[in-house]
Amino acid sequence: MRLRPVVPASIHSRVPLFDPTPALLMKPGDSDPVQSLNDARLAAMGIVRWKTRRSVVDADTSVELAASNEPSISHRPASSESHQTATADDSMHPSIQEDTQSEDITSDEVITPETLEIIESEVSVCQKCTLASGRIHTVFGSGNPKAQWMIIGEAPGAAEDAQGKPFVGRAGQLLTAMIESLDMSRDAVYIANVLKCRPPNNRDPLGDEVASCSPYLVRQIRLIRPAIILALGRFAAQALLQTQQPISRLRGSVHRYGEFDTPLVVSYHPAYLLRSPLEKRKAWEDLKLARRIMSDVVE
Ligand code: SF4
Repeated sequence: MRLRPVVPASIHSRVPLFDPTPALLMKPGDSDPVQSLNDARLAAMGIVRWKTRRSVVDADTSVELAASNEPSISHRPASSESHQTATADDSMHPSIQEDTQSEDITSDEVITPETLEIIESEVSVCQKCTLASGRIHTVFGSGNPKAQWMIIGEAPGAAEDAQGKPFVGRAGQLLTAMIESLDMSRDAVYIANVLKCRPPNNRDPLGDEVASCSPYLVRQIRLIRPAIILALGRFAAQALLQTQQPISRLRGSVHRYGEFDTPLVVSYHPAYLLRSPLEKRKAWEDLKLARRIMSDVVE
């Protein structure tokens, strides 16, 4: 929202902006004596009086701006500085003045609230790291935008890159089974990755790729504001917790993430569990830990 320049209170107290009495005596064609008097007073105080286009039909919409040394409140962009530093010379360029004034009145700046769709559209054209050149699709995330559970993995693999969705293929099927073992449907949770583009040959993400991409995930988490985060795999856990500790040290306890101190539980990535099925028992322990935390939150 743009704020109009404000005439300081001290000026209001010294210069009455509207005194109706003399106006009653005016005839058509007369110049407004109050207006003239006020203009003279303002000019004496070094204040330039500007009129908007609307002032042609409605004098009450006139805008008064203090000269450059008068305080004002403005959240305007730098282009508005011409208003703040207006001098009498500006009146020699009415067309310029008129256009900038018109912008003030007729075009309110729209502040669009952040949405997942906005972030996703940014990601879809992102070129912030070299992974952009090798992707088929960006993989933003999917699921319930108001989910209590947010599940975060590392990066898209080949199947995810091909479909533009996270956790598809065999690892995705196992993740779905893990979610359902918690008596939830996959649609109830929100699933995302730290990286939105596939690293070549599924290699580990590089530090600069994480640095470039993680702001998107931070914004996603802030919008979804889950009650719990389940970080799957060493890389996701280390990236979210800003640590280099091995996953064996990170599992089995409750961490806290971000500005809302969201509980975060670490478990194995489903792709790893497919390769090491004996670890599924530990993964089940992790899920039970997360479920206990959630039951505490709900209660
Ligand atoms: S991985 Fe992330 S930062 Fe890199 S190009 Fe893809 S969306 Fe952009």
